[in-house]
Amino acid sequence: MRLARLIRRIFFAACWAAALRASGQTSIRFALKGRVVTPEGLVQNGTVIVSGSHIEDVGELSVPAGTRVIETEGLIYPGLVDLHNHLTWNVFPRWKSGMKFPNRYEWQLLPAYLKALADPHEHLIGEGLGPAMARYAEVKAIAGGATALAGLYPEDLGPGFRPPYRGLMRMLDVGSGIYPDGTPEPVRYHVYPLVLSEGDASEIRDGLATHRIRSLLIHLAEGGPNDASSMMEYRILKARGLLLPGVTLIHGVALHEEQFREMARLGVGLVWSPRSNFELYGATADVAAAKRAGVRIALAPDWSPTGSDGMLEELAYAAALESSSREPVFSDSELLEMATSVPAALAGAGDRIGAIRRGACADLLIIRKSDLPGGSALDHASPADVLMVMVGGRPVYGQRALVESVSPGVDLSEVSVSGTTKVVALPSDPSIGNWHDLTARLDAAMRALGTHLGPISSD
Ligand SMILES: [Zn+2]
Repeated sequence: MRLARLIRRIFFAACWAAALRASGQTSIRFALKGRVVTPEGLVQNGTVIVSGSHIEDVGELSVPAGTRVIETEGLIYPGLVDLHNHLTWNVFPRWKSGMKFPNRYEWQLLPAYLKALADPHEHLIGEGLGPAMARYAEVKAIAGGATALAGLYPEDLGPGFRPPYRGLMRMLDVGSGIYPDGTPEPVRYHVYPLVLSEGDASEIRDGLATHRIRSLLIHLAEGGPNDASSMMEYRILKARGLLLPGVTLIHGVALHEEQFREMARLGVGLVWSPRSNFELYGATADVAAAKRAGVRIALAPDWSPTGSDGMLEELAYAAALESSSREPVFSDSELLEMATSVPAALAGAGDRIGAIRRGACADLLIIRKSDLPGGSALDHASPADVLMVMVGGRPVYGQRALVESVSPGVDLSEVSVSGTTKVVALPSDPSIGNWHDLTARLDAAMRALGTHLGPISSD
């Protein structure tokens, strides 16, 4: 118990320090009132007390004297945790090939793909626009309710980039802000794990064994359900000794009962990205079999060209898929867990993000009230319903009145989202510029390459 208290105290200190640095203030404490979704259930007249960057308390509380009270008039959820994205690619509009493919290697060689996405992406990164692309895509991810994400590639940020990345949200593998400064991030993210050098693979195996690495997220078996080469990826991963506790497979469309049982036994998780899978392969992972086997399953949008613009849109897609199915696999509240507590646990950070509980980081998503139950309300919400997104106790996005009631005087930029106007508190970065300059510069550069800047949300 004493050790647990000590660990919590160190963690609070790290959270506090981060918040104070970010705000320039000496103390921050306020109470958010609304209907609060906690691991124990929905608290109708709930209060979340935020102290610095962490949650001090939650429940039906009487607010301590002198604490600022903010009536959100909304539903308060933990910020959503996205374990599968390709951030800088989300500047592009949707890509519709009109074809279905056997596996990912097929469409990645298609001239139409190279023309619409790969070539312009390479060109934009080559022009040094990576940081601006990342910033735009961060706002897009936050508009979809995410506060933590994996899938920002350091190489996209230019040769001068040194981690940690400091932006609006937590980048789980390159700048989470969860751990004290100088601590290497315990999350690794790989798109092509089979081309890992033996040195890298060995470093990952050792890291997982010693818990220096808590989570390895890898793309695997992305193809049709009967694609032999996709299935072979699983066998190769296993043969290389990388099917280990702490590993999470992204996609897994070609996997079956036998692999799912093995994954469950070894503590290997799965990230499900149904929209992108149906778009590219006409099928998705057999999540019914994975669930039956006991695999922990998270939900994530992949990327906006073929998947969803963000987590809320992917949740709505999955909820619609389930409600149209004769044999639905997940309830609305399970889908909510697949976007919050499950991915947080798979990232090795289940005690810090993914749930509204005492001591966790104050990462919150507040949406418009609804008559639906907690899980259902979020699964059927759209980015237009978002009232505020908070990361580490700082409101970074939402409706102007609510954001300003928490952070009066902060510099806000207006963003058009699904026919509504939201505001975002952009970090000051002269090399990227304000929102207007950033979007104008990206759109002009993309039009010169025969494409254009995609919307924040097309839903
Ligand atoms: Zn992917």
